[in-house]
Amino acid sequence: MKIVKTVAEVREQVKAWRAEGLTVGLVPTMGYLHEGHASLIDASVRDNDRTVVSDFVNPMQFGPTEDLETYPRDLEHDAALVEAHGGDLIFNPEPAEMYHDGFSSFVDMTVLTQELCGLSRPVHFRGVCTVVSKLFNIVTPDRAYFGKKDAQQLAVIRHMVDDLNMPLEIIGCPIIREEDGLAKSSRNTYLSAEERQAALILSKSIKLGMELVKNGETDAAKITGEMTKLIESEPLAKIDYVKMVDAATMQQIPALDRPALCAIAVYIGKTRLIDNFFTEDV
Ligand code: AMP
Repeated sequence: MKIVKTVAEVREQVKAWRAEGLTVGLVPTMGYLHEGHASLIDASVRDNDRTVVSDFVNPMQFGPTEDLETYPRDLEHDAALVEAHGGDLIFNPEPAEMYHDGFSSFVDMTVLTQELCGLSRPVHFRGVCTVVSKLFNIVTPDRAYFGKKDAQQLAVIRHMVDDLNMPLEIIGCPIIREEDGLAKSSRNTYLSAEERQAALILSKSIKLGMELVKNGETDAAKITGEMTKLIESEPLAKIDYVKMVDAATMQQIPALDRPALCAIAVYIGKTRLIDNFFTEDV
């Protein structure tokens, strides 16, 4: 397992693999890797001859008041995890390697980014689409792996690949959770012991929503209303959104008459956490 910092080194390695006729999978991450990331690496290692993990806290996808400076980083730990799971290369560039002076080209998206996190984080998906496009151009993978934990991101990337005829396959992977239900996230490290307990309200409300759907409820407002009530019973929780959207377009829908995504974003203290379920997974 190798760690490289430059685009040129990635290209050289991928070129050598291609010369041997090997397939390449890419797992884009912001590092501080946990079992959620590991599940993506496992899937890539299963499907491809070689796996590249990008480990880059992308400044472009953070808003001015967000946690870019404090976002946790631990390359040594990440390297051990990637190695243990059979990854072959970590691409860990400095911001200047990705965004040189005078950088002025962006990949942006309308419609799918209007709701949910796109509404609360106006510059976020432009940053995500731009960096992921760059990574696709640098690594030229056959397949790239994204978690359903960031469900809107997965939909946006699928759409971008389709719109822009990018020649690779996008694989969505299930949400990996702690034993008590909390979705694994690098940001969970921000939580105090008391907040960690309070954060369980997210997965509890997701479970409640899934039960309502399983029992045949099709009224979106009823489902999100029950979930909202439950989240509001937790004093440390402050809701950003609880929404039911069309799974493909990410537009809000009143009834479950098509594949849907139920997504929530909740502040626990100062930490913003997200969780969701797709109705097709219920
Ligand atoms: P991040 O490092 O948070 O940007 O995440 C990198 C990738 O890992 C994204 O595709 C995430 O959706 C995915 N991911 C993060 N947490 C989880 C999780 N708990 N389960 C599955 N995938 C995850």
